[in-house]
Amino acid sequence: MRLSRNRMWGTPPLVDFLERLAAQAPRVGWPGLLVGDMSQPRGGPMLTGHASHQLGLDADIWLTPMPDHRMSRREREETSATDVVRADRLDIDPRVWTPEHLKLIRLTAKQPEVTRLFVNPAIKKALCREAGGDRAWLSKVRPMYGHNYHYHIRLACPAGQDQCDDQAPPPGGDGCGEELAYWFSDAVLHPPKPTKPPKLKPPMTMAALPAACRAVLKAR
Ligand SMILES: [Zn+2]
Repeated sequence: MRLSRNRMWGTPPLVDFLERLAAQAPRVGWPGLLVGDMSQPRGGPMLTGHASHQLGLDADIWLTPMPDHRMSRREREETSATDVVRADRLDIDPRVWTPEHLKLIRLTAKQPEVTRLFVNPAIKKALCREAGGDRAWLSKVRPMYGHNYHYHIRLACPAGQDQCDDQAPPPGGDGCGEELAYWFSDAVLHPPKPTKPPKLKPPMTMAALPAACRAVLKAR
């Protein structure tokens, strides 16, 4: 989706993964994937939007089911994404949330390559409520600001890539207790307005990246 952003680039393991997931999705009633941002060409930091999505191992999947046809470039620019969270941010919007949303997220979380999946806290709340007895996959599903139009997938370092360091695995358990409740605290839902403008982080430069990244940048 949004091809004009030019963020549809990923490592071969990520592209393979998404193709396999897309092929499996119809089995859980999800007609096909609308893939949002992956990485820029050659990866690396970007000026706006993401702290992650740099390694070619992250992808955003829209919470909108694929329509019944292959979308034109224009449709992929202009189609709006679906916000599945209620206006008060406390729960999903039952008018747009469906059992298939849970099934797609569960299918994704159960893939061995997936280490983490980010969703809005209201979505995590719905998953906790609707998951039933099979709950081990919920530990990978992490609450995060935003993520009400799409969910984010992070893959493990591909085998043999010894310069890739995996993040520590998420804490065990389904994460449906205190950890989730924190996201619905007043301080998180309604943070006080900052009195002075927040300090912006300086942009990341090539010099600050591992030397191996320069080789990627300069490769023809
Ligand atoms: Zn993302």
